[in-house]
Amino acid sequence: MKNERSISAFTRARAVIAGGVNSPVRAFKAVGGSPIFFKSGSGAYLRDLNDREYLDFVLSWGPLIVGHAHPAVVKAIASAAQRGSSFGAPTEAESELAEIIVGMMPSIERIRFVSSGTEATMSAIRLARGFTRRPKIVKFAGCYHGHADPFLIAAGSGALTAGVPSSPGVTEGTARDTVVVPFNDADAVARAFDAHPDAIAAVVVEPYAGNMGLVPPRPGYLAQLRAACDRHGALLVFDEAMTGFRVARGGAQALADVRPDLTTLGKAIGGGLPVGAFGGRADVMAYLAPDGPVYQAGTLSGNPLAMAAGIATLKLVRDDATLYERLGVLTQLLTDGLEAVFEKHGIAHQTARAGSMFGVFFAPEPVHDLTGAMRADTKLFAAFFHAMLDRGIYLAPSQFETGFVSSAHTTADIERTLAAADAALAEARTVGPQSNQPPSPR
Ligand SMILES: *Cc1c(COP(=O)(O)O)cnc(C)c1O
Repeated sequence: MKNERSISAFTRARAVIAGGVNSPVRAFKAVGGSPIFFKSGSGAYLRDLNDREYLDFVLSWGPLIVGHAHPAVVKAIASAAQRGSSFGAPTEAESELAEIIVGMMPSIERIRFVSSGTEATMSAIRLARGFTRRPKIVKFAGCYHGHADPFLIAAGSGALTAGVPSSPGVTEGTARDTVVVPFNDADAVARAFDAHPDAIAAVVVEPYAGNMGLVPPRPGYLAQLRAACDRHGALLVFDEAMTGFRVARGGAQALADVRPDLTTLGKAIGGGLPVGAFGGRADVMAYLAPDGPVYQAGTLSGNPLAMAAGIATLKLVRDDATLYERLGVLTQLLTDGLEAVFEKHGIAHQTARAGSMFGVFFAPEPVHDLTGAMRADTKLFAAFFHAMLDRGIYLAPSQFETGFVSSAHTTADIERTLAAADAALAEARTVGPQSNQPPSPR
């Protein structure tokens, strides 16, 4: 069997690791089958335990914008490791990465580094609550902000009812302070502010929703959020953990020309090592300890290896004047090509692209929110996913995830992918696996 080593590796993992994985989406629950275990990556390609090669459109869920094991990144990490892996004291590398980020994202006047996107969003809302002295946050159905309790809330029956925890272990008390409204509906946000006067500390949004598939904002929507926050004295928090340095050089805030009060980052800023960050207005960030009263800390925050990987990656991004243009052209080639293939096979589809991010829904109607995303055909996607995997193309193992292209991908890679999609669909339409799963956090 072609995946026999991955299958036995998964059996081994399941005996000692909860569910066999350290993040749920890796287990392939949404597409069925057994996850592939990888042993190496180089450029746009991954190699599994059976020495099969795959063209990678997951890229560690976004961080690897310059591909796997880029020589400059490897060199930076190795040389940092030689100088010592952690000091628990400040290093100049932290200021260097901060300067690069602040230079590319001007709304960030002060920043703080943490070790994951989850920590970034969790810390940002504590800060927003401390700064505004208000208890509640608004989030959008289908947006993912990591796995901290206040974000693991799904909408109740009505958009304005108090949230209901979407995971056991999240208390009703926590859920009450999270107001969930539909994405891309400015009126729903206005109603949330009216229903909770002077109680909303922040509106937290993925400016391009990337965790229910890829759902771009409607034109003007992000500016409407900005105006609503200004009207009601709440902070606007853009969670750019995924979109930061992905949709454009300055992130989604540059594309939309909207200045959030706080921004959270992750993924690409660590170049494949564990880094997150939050930052924004200097007066708000001044509320953080040690200058201010809001506590936030981390033993390994600003870790020298992670800073080195981030600096090397973002320098490659910053200093390559045509990078975003090239990534955009490649990604567009992919989405245009996929549309042509889907049309040829008579399959209802919606594709989306933002910079080097792309998404496909097997759905007949345009998707603007979670309700629309959930209408997508998950059975067809599961069949398509496995047929692509058989042809050496590694897509995210769920339709409700975003795909990524790196600077290591080539036109030939995209053409190979489109040919594989054509053959895969011919096959996928005749078979049909399992499962109808809601978006699953990684
Ligand atoms: C990935 C992601 C997170 C969480 O980051 P982790 O590093 O997985 O904790 C938060 N917000 C968004 C928008 C993300 O895409």
